[in-house]
Amino acid sequence: MSDQDCLFCKIIAGEIPSEKVYEDETTYAFKDINPKAKVHVLVVPRKHYANVAELAQADPAQLAHTAEVAQKIADQEFHGAFRLIFNTGIDAGQTVFHVHAHVLTGEKLDE
Ligand code: C5P
Repeated sequence: MSDQDCLFCKIIAGEIPSEKVYEDETTYAFKDINPKAKVHVLVVPRKHYANVAELAQADPAQLAHTAEVAQKIADQEFHGAFRLIFNTGIDAGQTVFHVHAHVLTGEKLDE
């Protein structure tokens, strides 16, 4: 899929609305429209990589920054506790092929 057809590239560009919770030069974070926890935020590198493995290979500093942003959100929402998920591949439930971290927080999570 090219960047032009990518849903999250369009969200980052402001062409599709989203509920922003954080942004900086490299990273955009917004509320998931179908939350799986009291607070469910997607942290998305602005540059298009298909998945976390591609991101790790191409730009490990951005992957580390993605984790730092997740921590910042959890610090604000739930004393720093959070779950970080990168679905990778169709059979793991990935539906949007622009790398994104699911940050689940805001409440005690089931094990
Ligand atoms: O890991 P996966 O690729 O399935 O995650 C995509 C996520 O993007 C879903 O949790 C879905 O609810 C969310 N989404 C969204 N806003 C959209 C489309 C999808 O928050 N406009």
